[in-house]
Amino acid sequence: MLKQRSSETLGLIFACLFAAFSTSAWASGSTKDVNGRFVNRYADLSHSQNFLSWQWTRIVEGLPKPAKIPTPQMPVDETRLKLPRGDAQVTWIGHSSLLYQIDGKNFLFDPVYAEYASPVPPLGPKRAQPPGIPFESLPHIDAVFISHNHYDHLDLDTVRRLAQQPGGSPKFYVPLGLDAWFVDNVPGSRVAGDAPNVIAMDWDESQTLPGKSQPMTIHFLAVQHWAARSPFDRNKTLWGSWAIEHPRFRFWFAGDLAYSPDIDDIARAYGGFDLAAIPIGVYEPRWFMKRAHVDPHEAIEVYKKVRAKKALGIHWGTFDGLSDESLDQPPEAFEHARQAAHLPAEDFVLFRIGETRSYNATPSNDQALKK
Ligand SMILES: [Zn+2]
Repeated sequence: MLKQRSSETLGLIFACLFAAFSTSAWASGSTKDVNGRFVNRYADLSHSQNFLSWQWTRIVEGLPKPAKIPTPQMPVDETRLKLPRGDAQVTWIGHSSLLYQIDGKNFLFDPVYAEYASPVPPLGPKRAQPPGIPFESLPHIDAVFISHNHYDHLDLDTVRRLAQQPGGSPKFYVPLGLDAWFVDNVPGSRVAGDAPNVIAMDWDESQTLPGKSQPMTIHFLAVQHWAARSPFDRNKTLWGSWAIEHPRFRFWFAGDLAYSPDIDDIARAYGGFDLAAIPIGVYEPRWFMKRAHVDPHEAIEVYKKVRAKKALGIHWGTFDGLSDESLDQPPEAFEHARQAAHLPAEDFVLFRIGETRSYNATPSNDQALKK
């Protein structure tokens, strides 16, 4: 009898667990349309809407205007990169490129060292300031995480150089479909066999990575955006955000994203990050950008929704001409949004390019509430 009851209890627990993980409106993983293009869960970004009319307006209006204030920059502390402090350490290289150091491992997110974030340099958005960590000063990189294939997030020369780093290629974690691009473009790419160095992941897929003391789990998570490197490959590869869950510290790299119900899904399944990297720039004009990029106000809403304890703003101040606002406008607009939201300055910060900050895990609000 006792045995039967305990098995019933066990069954009930499993049923509850299953229910908890299956309450989302979507099934796990990505889907494609009839043309083989990945689709967003809550919006149709299969076509560019009014791209030419946006380009025409910005030419007529002469946008973006030159920045009056350069993005703050500081020399990187190379000693600190070699001896990271705290539970996790982050260095802003510029735009969305970050060095993230956790439990003896060095990870790069969306590393771009190019002068131009463009398929046709010297046309297109130009780098306004040098990368915050010179390429030669990078520590040995264990893994690289790519959010999507836009030129300001994935640079061919940078990933080729990383694949050739002394001591061997890092592991490249990429959205579905980008593995084929690596094989075609990056010498040494291995997607199969015993030791692949390019690992393509679908939304809601997880993998385990070794840390120096404990393993960590990485998740690739859906956000609303799109992908393309040419006029002919729109959404042929996937896009997304990365959660790096170490037992001591949980980090979310938002990638590029619009404000969408995907954020609620992430909050429900993974919310309560110790740190989140969230875009605050490349948002004007809103009528064109809103479907794919948050503005500073929405970035703060994202931060609140995913219940991150701390955040840093990325995707700003580096490549001039990605959008209509000047390079110095996002920090100003962000400051207004932050004050309007009564958010303490130390909770959501903007780094200087080259700046390093260290973080220690603190008990989450959720945990504090349960006590
Ligand atoms: Zn993008």
